[in-house]
Amino acid sequence: MKPAVEIAGAGIAGLTAGLAFAQKGWQVRVHEQNSELGNPGEGIHLWENGLRVLDALGALAPVISGVIPASRHERRDPDGKTFSSGHFGRDFRLYVPSQASLSTTLYDALPWSRPAGRSSSTRGWSQQNRKVGCTSRTEAPRAPI
Ligand SMILES: Cc1cc2nc3c(=O)[nH]c(=O)nc-3n(C[C@H](O)[C@H](O)[C@H](O)COP(=O)(O)OP(=O)(O)OC[C@H]3O[C@@H](n4cnc5c(N)ncnc54)[C@H](O)[C@@H]3O)c2cc1C
Repeated sequence: MKPAVEIAGAGIAGLTAGLAFAQKGWQVRVHEQNSELGNPGEGIHLWENGLRVLDALGALAPVISGVIPASRHERRDPDGKTFSSGHFGRDFRLYVPSQASLSTTLYDALPWSRPAGRSSSTRGWSQQNRKVGCTSRTEAPRAPI
């Protein structure tokens, strides 16, 4: 029998942890209190470490598909004067995809299955059971909406 993990919150952390667990052979269920994933209209800065994590999980290509990488960066003081700058390169990258793209890619990559006791497998959960995640908050998971 597969080990099972229940994850509270379908944020970036919950979906990423869920996918990592699933790829290690765990049965994963993510609980999310909201009916939607993430903030669909917002972009998210993905720096080198995050990009490497997504790559290791096989989720990087769809997340950054069509996204132009940043080529340079600057830091400015309150007066707008640049006090440091540099260029991004192969080992230090920055992409800014939409949060929706990130959340949806991670969500879709999860190998959803029906709860034990029901028939069939793969992506068969109801909307409420498909909502899942991880959160830094400490309260118990709420019932999925
Ligand atoms: C304005 C803003 C801009 C940001 N920009 C960036 C950026 O560009 N790049 C970057 O890397 N980071 C950015 N961050 C930080 C980034 O959003 C957080 O680090 C990240 O979202 C944390 O992920 P998480 O999964 O831990 O938490 P969250 O994204 O907060 O997800 C937690 C999820 O758990 C759910 N939840 C909570 N409690 C329960 C419960 N009891 N039961 C069920 N579900 C529950 C919530 O509804 C939520 O969906 C930004 C943050 C803000 C506020």
